[in-house]
Amino acid sequence: MKLIFFGAPGAGKGTIAKQLKESAGIPHISTGDIFRANIKNQTELGKKVKAILDAGELVPDELTISLVENRVKEDDCKNGYILDGFPRTMVQAEAWSKIEEADAAIYFDIEDAEVVRRLGGRRTCPTCQAIFHVETNKPKTEGICDVCGAELIIRPDDATEAIQNRLKVYHSQTEPLLDYYTKLGKVVSVDATGTPEAVFNELQSKLKK
Ligand code: AMP
Repeated sequence: MKLIFFGAPGAGKGTIAKQLKESAGIPHISTGDIFRANIKNQTELGKKVKAILDAGELVPDELTISLVENRVKEDDCKNGYILDGFPRTMVQAEAWSKIEEADAAIYFDIEDAEVVRRLGGRRTCPTCQAIFHVETNKPKTEGICDVCGAELIIRPDDATEAIQNRLKVYHSQTEPLLDYYTKLGKVVSVDATGTPEAVFNELQSKLKK
């Protein structure tokens, strides 16, 4: 099963992808995670993309497409994969259609106000990447990671200005994909405002159909 997850930042794509990875036994490929890992490890790629991610802008298409193209050639992708956050522009979507045929493009439907609430309250562990929220998923001790004890941070791209920019970029660059994949008959739409459990159940029952 070759799946594309798309939708606004903060819609929960990563959370649901992690669950589906377990139940379907296919890898979760998040371009955002790949870029962040490279930044953390201070690789050449990481140095190139850090300022772009911090500002909530998009990494150039060509670089992103070849990164994903190489990743899906790896052995663990032979039975399919979940692409989380890619394609994210029309250039990427059209290029990808020539490289691989997706079985479905899962659209995570959510309003901007909910995105702002979710991302604005998000706190991330810089060491183990665990995610918390100041209202809905508080750590046991304020500001401290439950999993590894590190001090939680606000990811640079979760700062208020970057969130607004990511939404702007999403509406102008990524939202057109909804029309594109609808015309190809690939869209499976899920209501992303519910709990992760509700979203996951809705997705699973729609995928079965
Ligand atoms: P995410 O974790 O999916 O929100 O991605 C974090 C950041 O990584 C984005 O704001 C972009 O700067 C970059 N990024 C992730 N996926 C892509 C993509 N498909 N194309 C361009 N930039 C991307």
